[in-house]
Amino acid sequence: MAKIFCIANQKGGVGKTTTSVNLAAGLVLHGQRVLLIDLDPQGNATMGSGVDKRSLRTSVYEVLVGIADIKSALVRAGAGYDVLGANRELAGAEVELVQIAQRETRLRSALQQVEADYDFVLIDCPPSLSLLTLNGLCAAHGVIIPMQCEYFALEGLTDLVNTIKRVHANLNPSLKIIGLLRVMFDSRITLQQQVSEQLVAHFGDKVFTTIIPRNVRLAEAPSYGTPGVLYDRNARGAIAYVDFGAEMVERVKAL
Ligand code: ATP
Ligand code: MG
Repeated sequence: MAKIFCIANQKGGVGKTTTSVNLAAGLVLHGQRVLLIDLDPQGNATMGSGVDKRSLRTSVYEVLVGIADIKSALVRAGAGYDVLGANRELAGAEVELVQIAQRETRLRSALQQVEADYDFVLIDCPPSLSLLTLNGLCAAHGVIIPMQCEYFALEGLTDLVNTIKRVHANLNPSLKIIGLLRVMFDSRITLQQQVSEQLVAHFGDKVFTTIIPRNVRLAEAPSYGTPGVLYDRNARGAIAYVDFGAEMVERVKAL
């Protein structure tokens, strides 16, 4: 059975999508069967996987509102993982879901059909604590939180942690925080080193060992429709995400 993880942080632009896409590709390189679900109407994880969001015949939107079967909506990315894609249509799901029964658990129900086919399911969440993110959290075993080591990084974390606690208490008792992933890290910046040390002091082994450096190759890759991990395999960012894949493979053994 697949282990299912949300990549979440309601702060925008912190590296959720970059982490989702590159972890997916990294896990494939470690021989894992992976499904990547794009739960953001921006559709960046879809495009970054080389799947054109405008030409999707069926997207995660149809699956959530119950007018399409999940299997019919899957697309194979060039990097060797499956994608359940998203586009602008998904923004409408937020409104429509409010009137649907069991609106928080639509994704969880849909995933039951395919979870035996994968080792990992990764869910790229939008930058909000919306009903879409809630669907991700209800479907997942754990949350991976990418964050930049900046002064205000911890502030938004409280809201996310409280939401995770609420979902754990009311909707999904198996949900836990798997770890905090330090991303876009620049070791030359003293403040980043300090925040990084504070994170480890405060959260202990909830902080992943792997650190993702700031690396322009990772930022360039999406415009070529390929994960950074494959775009330039020798780039520091690519190597770090492959390492992170190995760390995740180890971590799930303990779950
Ligand atoms: P949103 O909240 O809008 O969904 P996000 O949290 O998914 O954003 P990304 O889209 O992954 O964040 O990253 C934001 C920007 O930072 C992008 O332009 C991305 O290419 C760039 N970026 C992400 N990680 C790195 C990195 N390690 N090094 C350099 N650039 C990065
Ligand atoms: Mg994103």
